[in-house]
Amino acid sequence: MPTQVNPATGEEGKTFPALDDGQIEAKIAQAVSTYRGWRTTDYETRTDLLRKIADQYDTQREELAAIITAEMGKPIKQARAEIDKCAKGFRFYADNGPDMLKPIEKPLVSGRSVSHWLPQGPVLAIMPWNYPFWQVVRFLAPTIMAGNVGLLKHASSTPECAAMLEQMVLDAGGPAGLFQNLHISASKVAGIIDDPRVVAVTITGSEAAGIKVAEQAGHNLKKVVLELGGSDPYVVMPSADVEQAARTAVTARLQNAGQSCICGKRMIVHEDVYDRFMEIFVEGVKNIKIGDPTDEATEMGPLSSEGARNDIAQQLEKAVQQGATKLYGGDIPDKPGAWMTPAILTDIPAGAPIACEEFFGPVAMVFKIKDLDEAVAVANDIPFGLGSSVWTTDEAEQQRFIRDIEAGMTAVNQMLASDPYAPFGGVKRSGHGRELGPYGLHEFMNLKNVMLP
Ligand code: NDP
Repeated sequence: MPTQVNPATGEEGKTFPALDDGQIEAKIAQAVSTYRGWRTTDYETRTDLLRKIADQYDTQREELAAIITAEMGKPIKQARAEIDKCAKGFRFYADNGPDMLKPIEKPLVSGRSVSHWLPQGPVLAIMPWNYPFWQVVRFLAPTIMAGNVGLLKHASSTPECAAMLEQMVLDAGGPAGLFQNLHISASKVAGIIDDPRVVAVTITGSEAAGIKVAEQAGHNLKKVVLELGGSDPYVVMPSADVEQAARTAVTARLQNAGQSCICGKRMIVHEDVYDRFMEIFVEGVKNIKIGDPTDEATEMGPLSSEGARNDIAQQLEKAVQQGATKLYGGDIPDKPGAWMTPAILTDIPAGAPIACEEFFGPVAMVFKIKDLDEAVAVANDIPFGLGSSVWTTDEAEQQRFIRDIEAGMTAVNQMLASDPYAPFGGVKRSGHGRELGPYGLHEFMNLKNVMLP
């Protein structure tokens, strides 16, 4: 039974009753019944709804942002930005969806082939708490545009966000069953994936959860999109604007208290500019405004839960035991809530297992490198391959990073951020499949080819 716990205070809030098996069955039946009607709606009906949902997000911006802040501790300014991004995401698919679904026609030696994008049915989404609206919206908006219907198993720590996500669709005039939130524990997910009426599954979360979900989907021969962890390299070369790279690195590492899959987590800095970079970066990390997440001036709030904070503290200890230097931070104040100061690790010994782990919290690992080859090698010396950020004005170096960094995304002379227009996803143990852009819309559709005379 999910219960809210405010990570800034440790206080409990509302409890949301978990669905029993009969209620889960009723929701799946409703999804199928709604799908039968929704799959044949015209694009205008779908884009109208997407625009109305976007308007709802604008209207209820303050209320929704406050729920994010109370449930997972995101500073209110960043929570508002998340809600704005959701509205943008709905409008993106409203404006561009019909074009992305145009049939693809090719002449053949004899006759022609026309491929149509068709919906497939109910899709299950398993989502995390870190961007509790945006993570879901990047699944939900294309689901509506595709003519599919959605079922949501959200993180147990953000139950009110989950409930509101469903309510917003209903309030905008979406049919019952188009998008349903299931208040269930993770143990119920396998049974839903097994259900033949559910056609596919997507998960954004940890490697461990991704493995379970992929196994279950594989057993059922169902398509799965996996958006898992990352430990993104943030590479700074001598030709870069080092001051800007170092200032941006503070945000890239500490946004959302370091709990973003595409945070720059490993700073890989050329020895020629290392000292200057560290001067600015360390100062920036020390000066970040930590405090009450409801305060407009706060830049970093608590972590999402005391459990998550304790995990990070343990990882930090492990890093030091493995020979890394804790240059700064990682202190836990003696007060209720999931508080912690950001930390910086340097001199991580070659081969230390910690270098291959993801810190899903405010801890930066910094590596000093000698040349371009070493930069690429260190960037790739990790089981993950989600995002990356490279800072260099040298064209040849840029091309080398674009070609050789093993990641789904590379940002050049900027920090990486998701955008509705740009495909989002990873390689290696960060998962597979793409969200956003046309690719996210097509993932769960049937590209039906028609041969014509
Ligand atoms: P979890 O994987 O524990 O939780 C994510 C979601 O998966 C939650 O809804 C959770 O439910 C559910 N879940 C957990 N275990 C299972 C299971 N065995 N079967 C089915 N569902 C399950 O992740 P964390 O809460 O630890 O979130 C942080 C992790 O997610 C990090 O590793 C991070 O990198 C990754 N992440 C990746 C992102 C990306 O876009 N690639 C974005 C954000 C995070 P419940 O809450 O009930 O346990």
